[in-house]
Amino acid sequence: MDHAQRERSMRAHWKDNKTFQRSIENREGQQTYVFYEGPPTANGMPHAGHALGRTIKDFVARYKTMSGYQVLRKAGWDTHGLPVELEVEKQLNIRGKDDIEKFGVEKFIEKCKESVFVYENEWKEFTDKLGYWVDMENPYKTLNNPYIESVWNILATIHDEDLLYKGHRVVPYCPNCETSLSSHEVAQGYKDVTDLSVTAKFRVSDKENEFILGWTTTPWTLPGNVALAVNPEMTYVKAKQGEEIYVVAKSLVNSVLGEAYEVVEELAGEDLIGINYEAPFDFISLDNGHYVIGADFVTDTSGTGIVHLNPAHGEDDYNAIQAKGMDFVNVVDSKGRYKDEIAPLVGQFVKDSDVDIIKMLAKDGTLYEKQKYEHSYPHCWRCDTPLLYYAMEGWFIKTTAVKEKMQENNQSVEWFPNHMRDGRFGNFLDNMVDWNIGRNRYWGTPLNVWVCDDCGKQKSPHSIQELRTFADSDVPEDIELHKPYVDKITFDCECGGKMHRTKEVIDVWFDSGSMPFAQYHHPFENDELFNKQFPADVVIEGVDQTRGWFYSLLAVSTLFTGKTPYKRVLSLGHILDEHGQKMSKSKGNALNPVELIEEFGADALRWALLADSSPWNNKRFSKKTVSQAKSKVIDTILNVFSFYSMYADIDKFTVEEHASDAKTTMDHWILSRLNSVIKEVTTSLDQYDITKGARSIALFVDELSNWYVRRSRQRFWSSGMNDDKKAAFTTLHEVLTKLTQLMAPYTPFVADDIYTNLQGDSVHVSDFPKVDEDAIDEKLEADMQGVLEVIEGARSLRNEVNIKTKQPLAELVVVPNDAQLQSGLQAYTSIIEEEINVKQVSFKKDTADFLDTEMKLNFPVAGPKLGKQVGQAKGKVENFTEQEKEAFLVDGTITVELQDGSKATLEKEDIIVEKKGQKGYQLFEGNRFVLLLDTNLTEKLKEEGFVREFIRAVQTYRKELDLPVEQRVDVYVNSNENAERILSEFDSLIHEGLIVNSIQFLEKENMKQVTVNDTEMGLSIV
Ligand SMILES: [Zn+2]
Ligand SMILES: [Zn+2]
Repeated sequence: MDHAQRERSMRAHWKDNKTFQRSIENREGQQTYVFYEGPPTANGMPHAGHALGRTIKDFVARYKTMSGYQVLRKAGWDTHGLPVELEVEKQLNIRGKDDIEKFGVEKFIEKCKESVFVYENEWKEFTDKLGYWVDMENPYKTLNNPYIESVWNILATIHDEDLLYKGHRVVPYCPNCETSLSSHEVAQGYKDVTDLSVTAKFRVSDKENEFILGWTTTPWTLPGNVALAVNPEMTYVKAKQGEEIYVVAKSLVNSVLGEAYEVVEELAGEDLIGINYEAPFDFISLDNGHYVIGADFVTDTSGTGIVHLNPAHGEDDYNAIQAKGMDFVNVVDSKGRYKDEIAPLVGQFVKDSDVDIIKMLAKDGTLYEKQKYEHSYPHCWRCDTPLLYYAMEGWFIKTTAVKEKMQENNQSVEWFPNHMRDGRFGNFLDNMVDWNIGRNRYWGTPLNVWVCDDCGKQKSPHSIQELRTFADSDVPEDIELHKPYVDKITFDCECGGKMHRTKEVIDVWFDSGSMPFAQYHHPFENDELFNKQFPADVVIEGVDQTRGWFYSLLAVSTLFTGKTPYKRVLSLGHILDEHGQKMSKSKGNALNPVELIEEFGADALRWALLADSSPWNNKRFSKKTVSQAKSKVIDTILNVFSFYSMYADIDKFTVEEHASDAKTTMDHWILSRLNSVIKEVTTSLDQYDITKGARSIALFVDELSNWYVRRSRQRFWSSGMNDDKKAAFTTLHEVLTKLTQLMAPYTPFVADDIYTNLQGDSVHVSDFPKVDEDAIDEKLEADMQGVLEVIEGARSLRNEVNIKTKQPLAELVVVPNDAQLQSGLQAYTSIIEEEINVKQVSFKKDTADFLDTEMKLNFPVAGPKLGKQVGQAKGKVENFTEQEKEAFLVDGTITVELQDGSKATLEKEDIIVEKKGQKGYQLFEGNRFVLLLDTNLTEKLKEEGFVREFIRAVQTYRKELDLPVEQRVDVYVNSNENAERILSEFDSLIHEGLIVNSIQFLEKENMKQVTVNDTEMGLSIV
């Protein structure tokens, strides 16, 4: 069965047996572990980042479930917002609000509703295939009436507390999307661009040739100039250059005017305040404007020390002009184009008008200087249009009023990685501004504030019921809480006027931030459920949600309840490609998670995502990582299980009938390791160190397969049922049972497949294994660790001299560093002998009899020190006597007499010491021991090597013939006399290695031709 078949059948099995539901019902009455699902939008396709998020969410939920908690997992969909509207506009081939109004708001909203779930099936399929267990049958959807009603209740509560206000606010604004952007949206779209800055001449009223030099980085705002600002504390000068006099900050006069000028007067900033000037453009006339004001934000770090102010496009500008009661003007329309009053440029996009503005200034003689400069400028993250700062009427939530409470709440949150709390997230909280909540759009939760046309009084209904109470006529029974339906409802004001709903919908982040309450229609129903499910024990999303969902959850909950909505945040890094580049569709380096699942299986993908590196950091990821996860872990555990099940089938083994305690040292060892791993994994996972847990498991899977099972094969091969075999089965059964439980949260498909075979029910309704301390034998584990290290060292020696494993060798000499290691190893010499195929393992105290020590002068170090002596010293060192070598090794220094009679002292660093095995002994130097492998081959050893290769050839042929493993056969061999002689002599070895009745030297028809160590032979198996 390949991975696709296995995972398909497990999915069907889970569905048929309602395994997910059972895993929750199972824990009824147990402690609750609360998990919140951050809602994705279903109008975009899932990508690799979603695979990581969903894998970890599923991991945590499965682990906590197996650990005894009840973990509800309600799915959610984020359904409102501009992306949906833009998608529909594209579909309908319309653009902007005018088109939408023409098309009809009701029809447009209907289209949005249809468009929301375009990719729902893809999401469901992806979620299902990944093995993410989440309740997609009863998800919360932000567009449903009950959800919106809960959001309304929250907003009305905030309104009651005077924390929801209407203000004029200069905000980042996309003229293409015709909407303002929140600060977290703005942060996503900075780009380096080259713009023009301008120093313009503002003629002082009634002075022919006196100008104030105002500086701006946004020349397009000059037609809307209302004031100039100076810093009252700074010093300014009047400087004469040519025929004209310029006003400029004293400290900037050189950088603005260059060398050729003459200061004619020095004056305080204070003295400039109130001076009237003529704006460079006269398109607008003002009742109150065009004079110099004082402002603290003016500095002398750049420009002229005098700032041009346009209240519509700068926050500071707006506030300063507002404070002075000067005129508010805005010459730019909502699409970012000049309005009619700017006749020469009417209809032109302002950000494209800098050059025209400069030309107009130059023509009028009001341009002093222009300069190109590079800076980072915000662009719309959706449509890439450069953003404008734009004064909009809007609705704000006074989040700054609860800033301290939010900071305090954040302190109680456990963040992964830990530095997020006071770092990225903490900083974001420190710098928060009021939440610009209103959007002048259509598809969203309508802001539930009604305003009186006459007196401006506001009313905010908490519920549909209250809406009916407030309404001046009947509200339809099936009222949908969307535009345009709610806009038709009006209230009667106490003043006798009519109240209409303000036109805005709200920021979608407020929708998703309200989910702890709105997902259960709190407070209108589900009281008990809500109380059990608030706050969350964990939320898990990408690090970009610092400014998104992590923030909106905390803000909404703090505003509404004062409480922290989550105890723990797992903030995940980005998935990068193998070169460390961010994955993106446009770069073509994005991995499609569904394709990866199809090629390697969800288990392999999940393992790769969880085990490869810490999820908190950005992750380099490629197909190779997934393919390795499959071959090293998934396939290995499957091989172990198929080995077990094959022999268990043959022997009809069951634990109930055949359990045995006749355990061998190997059995005790693997059980000890198993329990140590259970302990390690549990400790790691309780600290959310998923990667460390995976590493413990991966090592164990390798030990199980490449050591325990391999060393124990003979026990399963033996015929009949004996105690030893029963013990082997019993042990492997227990190990596979608990190992698959450990792996279940990582690789739910393969783990459940194996576990269900062994235990008859799903691993996902079982309890996470508990460590059996009594089974842990630390000494045994340490001894075996030594054995494994020796074997690994000896194998590497065999590789070095290129002698095949099947070729027996005479001796391995082990020189351990300490007695404890030696006593540990001595108990297992027969295993070591077998494993590395040597006739004898012997222990020696030192290496003296086996090593040649060669010494050479270390030129780069000794050369400069010895100078002219170097040539002679080189010869001397290379011809050291054994005594001299010994003396140097002991003392670490040696003074030698050179040929010319001079003396030289050589230190440790001057001489390179190389040790080499002698007499055919190959040297391996480990940390805890030295190995010497005798590579001399006697005739006898060569013959045995030949026989072992022969055995392998027969086994390979058996496999090709697909014979049942336990079937005894007759083997016919046709070869030369010498080969037949050797094979006869090693008859007993052949019977040990092969399940055969007899070996006969006869020629048969259609023999398989094979080559065994250069000898040709025909083989036939009957
Ligand atoms: Zn845009
Ligand atoms: Zn009124």
